[in-house]
Amino acid sequence: MPERDLLARSLAAVWHPCTQMKHHERLPLLAIVRGDGPWLEDATGRRLIDGVSSWWTNLFGHCNPRINAALKDQLGRLEHAMLAGFTHEPVVALSERLSALTEGHLGHVFYASDGASATEIALKMSQHYWRNVGQPAKNRFLCLEGSYHGETVGALAVTDVAIFREAYAPLLRPATVVPTPDARLARSGESAADVAQRAAAALEQTLEQDHERIAALIVEPLVQGAAGMVMYDPEYLRLARRLCDRYRVHLIADEIAVGFGRSGSFFAFEQAAIQPDLLCLSKGISGGYLPLSAVLCTDDIYRAFYDDSVTRAFLHSHSYTGNALACRAALAVLDIFDEDDVVATNRQRARWLGDAATELLAERPVTHLRQRGMILAFDVTGGGEDFAARYFAAAVDHGALLRPIGRTVYLMPPYVLDQSLTHELVLRATKALDAVLAAH
Ligand SMILES: *Cc1c(COP(=O)(O)O)cnc(C)c1O
Repeated sequence: MPERDLLARSLAAVWHPCTQMKHHERLPLLAIVRGDGPWLEDATGRRLIDGVSSWWTNLFGHCNPRINAALKDQLGRLEHAMLAGFTHEPVVALSERLSALTEGHLGHVFYASDGASATEIALKMSQHYWRNVGQPAKNRFLCLEGSYHGETVGALAVTDVAIFREAYAPLLRPATVVPTPDARLARSGESAADVAQRAAAALEQTLEQDHERIAALIVEPLVQGAAGMVMYDPEYLRLARRLCDRYRVHLIADEIAVGFGRSGSFFAFEQAAIQPDLLCLSKGISGGYLPLSAVLCTDDIYRAFYDDSVTRAFLHSHSYTGNALACRAALAVLDIFDEDDVVATNRQRARWLGDAATELLAERPVTHLRQRGMILAFDVTGGGEDFAARYFAAAVDHGALLRPIGRTVYLMPPYVLDQSLTHELVLRATKALDAVLAAH
């Protein structure tokens, strides 16, 4: 039994992320041997639709022929060279293209290997900027209730998810948490925009009192992913932008999850017709192929570091900064966006997803069915303890990879499902729900 072998070896040798390892005494661990478009195949030949894009990273399916070809070509040229003192075509081309996607507003790109590091870089850049311009007291941060910006110590300080944060509280210098504009908080007669205005009013109070000590506000534009696909009105971003300008505070957009077409526009902040001062990207950037993250900043921020003095420079570095293979994967991703007009074609895909959910979830005990582009979510009432773990197992039984956050089930598939496979994914999600509710 080669599969049993691999599972036992994995449980003996691999410490899996975001997991209480003891739970694997009863929960299945799956050995994935092959990926093919939206499908993941395990060692027993079972095929799962990847309904969460492998932790929100995979945009164009597994083993995508175009990304594979680009990487094979790059492997024959250059796999990696250190980026201090050196440069190469993929990192230059990627920087130019990312900057162009912000219409040149964010003219400089700094690289790292994962999302949490991008958060750290944005925070350090913001604080160091204020120090360089003679306002060193501006060294604190604001984040939203329920925010998630990664789990390294610096990123955890702006992450408001108790279960990730509590054990490490002694290590942190926590940010100030301001109210979330979560549209579900609408009181009767209120719109999502009303909730956004209320949250922005609270933000204004905090800024008014404390702006001289605040370097930046960091937000996940439009969708707070790890909080449970919390969605909010673009009005909040418009108001936050205005307040950050008025109180001279940077606005950091963490688009690690919502960037690259996920929210319905290429970047989510476009839907509020604003631009951030700093932009964090990762996850979808390499199509789910290789670890890569990027932080884009304005010329104003960049210029505050440009000097004869070394101590005014941004000395942050990671060994794999600007890895050529990862940058080449990202370029292949951007090529697909251009060649296939992905932002436009995703509108149709998003409609298929929404229509199937409206049809199949009717009459089920779910609330707050919500959608922003290629993210669809709903909250389940009932279902008992351990809902998320039992739903995950039921979804696997029905041939789908779906991993609820608490009682929120979400679908975040790669951008490659046709109408019938979209319907099939939602059907499998619904059957998994029925199975969990029936067993309870
Ligand atoms: C996933 C995520 C991160 C952290 O990225 P990692 O690569 O997992 O460190 C940060 N911010 C947001 C919004 C995310 O969804």
